[in-house]
Formats: sequence, structure tokens, C-alpha cells
Amino acid sequence: MASPAPAKRLLNLFFLFLCPGCGRRVPVKGSRLCAWCLTRVYPVPGAGPAAFLHRGVMREMMIRLKYSGERHLGGVLAEMALEEWNRIPSPGDTVTCVPSSPATLRRRGYNQVSVIARRLAALAGCRFTEVLSRKPGPSQVGLSARERRLNLEGAFHTVGTVPGGRIWLLDDVLATGETLRQASGALRRGGAADVIPLAVNFRETRRGSMIEERIGETEPEGREDRRDS
Ligand SMILES: [Zn+2]
Repeated sequence: MASPAPAKRLLNLFFLFLCPGCGRRVPVKGSRLCAWCLTRVYPVPGAGPAAFLHRGVMREMMIRLKYSGERHLGGVLAEMALEEWNRIPSPGDTVTCVPSSPATLRRRGYNQVSVIARRLAALAGCRFTEVLSRKPGPSQVGLSARERRLNLEGAFHTVGTVPGGRIWLLDDVLATGETLRQASGALRRGGAADVIPLAVNFRETRRGSMIEERIGETEPEGREDRRDS
């Protein structure tokens, strides 16, 4: 193929944007990933609350948002998930998020789920409000599913007035579903009539998972797996 004319080359150079997934320069602006990164995105089929498997580039961006302070990735994750979820918020609804524990919030300085949820609300034309609080508690690290459930019981409560209408409750990574279950329960106890849980990523089980076998790659336990979901 003939190389582009000098003017075109100059134009291409001028209008290159960084792919948010890998940092390569690509000729597309916005949250869209480069062709290479798109091969490392695994959408979750079906009508579940999560949009993507917690693998590949979606996992990497989630880790960078959470641990490297790259808050702009919250917008990328929100935009991509919005295109993938089967049910999405409508104008008039409210978007809220699973809160961080006070200690995590102090250490990190922000709640990464809130960063995603704010952008999600803006894109969907909804209002965003933080109505849940999380009491200090021990980490979920190394706990069994039952211990995680017990650990989270009563961990969430509402603060202020819970908005009427439909509330979309967002979490970043869905694992056992216990966090969204407990947080949804707290919203309902606080007066919410209609709560719909959403998650960006889904971390599948390590053993006996069809999905794991199909993808055929094993990732080491990362520090994001020590999360409190
Ligand atoms: Zn890329």
C-alpha cells in the first residue's frame, strides 16, 4: 500500500489519541479502545448485572482506576458498560454506588465505584446521589463465601433521604454477589421501592467454571482479588 500523502500523514499525526487500555496512539478519540485491546474484552452474555468478565483489558483498567489514581478510566468503564448492559438507567431514575469503607476512603482518597457511577448517571441523564454508608469492618481477605456473607451483614445503611423511583445500584466488580445483595437490602430498608443492581465486571469462580475453561487462561491472584466484595 502506498504511504499517505505528506498532508495526510501530518493530519494523522495531529489527530492521534491514546488508547485508554494500552496507551498506544490510535486515530480514534474517546473511550473506544484500539483493535488490540478490543481482542481482550470479554462481554458477559445474558441479562445478568455485570457487563464484562474481570479479565483482560477491563480488569487492567479497573485495577488502574482503583490503585493508580487514574480516575479518567471511570468514564471509559462507564461508557463501555453502558453499551453492554441489557438494562440501563433512564432519565428520571437515580444512580447510586456501593460505598467504600471509611478506612479505604481515607487511604485512597476516592471511591472508584463512585467515579464510575457519576459518569454513568451523566451519560444516562440521571441524577447521582450517594445514599449508602459502610461501617468499618474487617477485610474480606481469605474468607469463605459464608464468612464473607456474615462479615457483610449489617455493613451498609442509608444516610439522608432515599430518593423515590427506580434506583440503580452500581458496584465495580461482582464476585459472590453478596455486596450488592446486602447494599440493595439496606436501600430497601431505607425506603427504596425499586433497586436494580449493576456491576461493570464479573470475577468468575476459579474452579469448575465453564467460562474459565473456554477462555483458557489463568491469571494469578492479583491484589484486586483481595477486595471486599
Ligand atoms: Zn489499546
